[in-house]
Amino acid sequence: MSDVLKTPSFCSAQPKPSEPRPSREEAERAIRTLLLWAGDDPAREGLRDTPARVARAYEDWFSGYSVDPEEFLQRTFEEVEGYDDMIVLKDIRFESHCEHHLAPIIGRAHVGYLPTHRVVGISKLARVVEAYARRLQVQEKMNAQIANTIQHVLQPRGVAVVIEATHQCMTTRGVHKTGVAMVTSTMLGDFRTNEITRGEFLSVIGHPTSSMNG
Ligand SMILES: [Zn+2]
Repeated sequence: MSDVLKTPSFCSAQPKPSEPRPSREEAERAIRTLLLWAGDDPAREGLRDTPARVARAYEDWFSGYSVDPEEFLQRTFEEVEGYDDMIVLKDIRFESHCEHHLAPIIGRAHVGYLPTHRVVGISKLARVVEAYARRLQVQEKMNAQIANTIQHVLQPRGVAVVIEATHQCMTTRGVHKTGVAMVTSTMLGDFRTNEITRGEFLSVIGHPTSSMNG
């Protein structure tokens, strides 16, 4: 087991807000304003504690801002008997929120990499997915962030990330397209250049759109 030298973040760095973080009280007041704006009465019994509940839910849904995804990959294992074949973690379920509507994005990520000398505990790949999911996202950006972070920290021969997700801003409003999954992928290194490697990964994770119905 060894610790990788800490390299400066390039993509997982926290956004730097241009304004100071509001107090919890201010956040709850803002939620109360939205309840009024929706047309309801924030003073009625059922809604009285809603601003506080929503603020707490935000702390959970957006907890990804307070973690550094690169840190999950710092601890690696070298004693793998020369194993250098593909490692795939598939069907990592995640919940995220779209940055355009704050609506849920529910989906699965499949992550694969080709280790050089070091492998990482398999649960750590899921932690990286989770860290990015628990921020405001667009699917394409999240896909690239996960792949780039793994590539940057582990320096494997390649990284493949496929994400399938439904966007509730699309299924519950606007065009109301239910059952539509968006599929994105980022292929780096050998997964990009070698068609056989890429094909092997895609067959391990199964056909992207068919597995969404499960
Ligand atoms: Zn949206």
